[in-house]
Formats: sequence, C-alpha cells, structure tokens
Amino acid sequence: MAKLYFRYGAMGCGKTMQLLQVAFNYEERGHKVCVMKPATDTKNGTKLLTRIGPERETDFCFEKDSDLFNFVKENFSDAHCVLVDEAQFLTQEQVDQLMMITIKLDIPVMAYGLRLNFKREAGGFDGATRLLQIAHDIEEIKTICECGKKATYNARFVNGKMVADGPDILIDDGKSEITYKAICPACYQKHLEGRK
Ligand SMILES: [Zn+2]
Repeated sequence: MAKLYFRYGAMGCGKTMQLLQVAFNYEERGHKVCVMKPATDTKNGTKLLTRIGPERETDFCFEKDSDLFNFVKENFSDAHCVLVDEAQFLTQEQVDQLMMITIKLDIPVMAYGLRLNFKREAGGFDGATRLLQIAHDIEEIKTICECGKKATYNARFVNGKMVADGPDILIDDGKSEITYKAICPACYQKHLEGRK
C-alpha cells in the first residue's frame, strides 16, 4: 500500500533539495511525479529553488481551499509519486486529502516541511501538526546550529536581532532585513535572554 511520508527539518536543512532529488530519481526511470507547493510561499513565484542551485517549476501551486485529492485524481492519477514542499502550510483537511491519495489512488505522497514555527508554538503549523499525527512514516532531516549542535528550532532575525514574536508571515517592507536561521534550543534561549 502507498504511504504518506513526512520529512521534516529546520530551515536550510536541504528539504527542497531532497524533494528535487526524489523527483529526479523517478523521472530518470520514466515515472511521472506531481510536484506541489502552497501559494502562501510566494518568494519564488511558482518555482522551487534551492540554495545549492537546482530548481524546478511546480505542477500545482495550491491555495488553502484547494482540494489536493481531487486535483491529483483528475490530473495526475498516473503519477508514481506526489511531492509536496513547504508542507507546514497545508491545512489539516489537505493533509487528510494527501492521506486519501495514498488510500484511494495508491500513490505515495512525500511531504517536506518545518515542524516548528519561529515562535516554537504548539500547533503553530496546522500542516506539520496533522502530518506528525497521521503520516505513516516520519523522519527528520538533520542540520547544524552555528554552535555545532543539532538545530531543531527556527529563529527569525530582524536587523540581526532574534525576535520570538510577531506575525506568522512577515511582509518585507524593504526597511528591515529579515532572515531565518536554524538554531539549537540552547542558542535560541541565549538569543531570547540577550546573551548572544
Ligand atoms: Zn546552538
């Protein structure tokens, strides 16, 4: 039976790179894949970009109310794999639709995304929370903090200073420099206490 996979990791751990590698492997063998991402992630238009270089156009840039099961059933029922980037932005219903793709269409689905938002809120990302609850197979993609320990938190920096609160999606107003970094819990705490 096809499975729903969740591959999670902090920012910059290479999630999109892994997704593109999986897509390449299928296509090299002549198999069709369906690559999707949420329209919430508008920074690169409809493309998937990686820091290392490879990029790819998505097959579907979906909205919060898109029905992913129906989309795949109608357009990609012959696909060998469905790949979803930025899966933390899925709604709970959409994660359930991904599960239905594995059950009713027997197509494996691999979802890549963050587990935690920058505020470390419980249930901060509906998509990640639901995937952690129901995915058949969950695995972490590891990455390293600036101190060398394993990074599991995502930190938002505004003009070089970490912020632990604010809007979920920050619009770049051109006045302040906004960056995100994967860091370990200890460094997150140090930043919070102003010790870094
Ligand atoms: Zn650290």
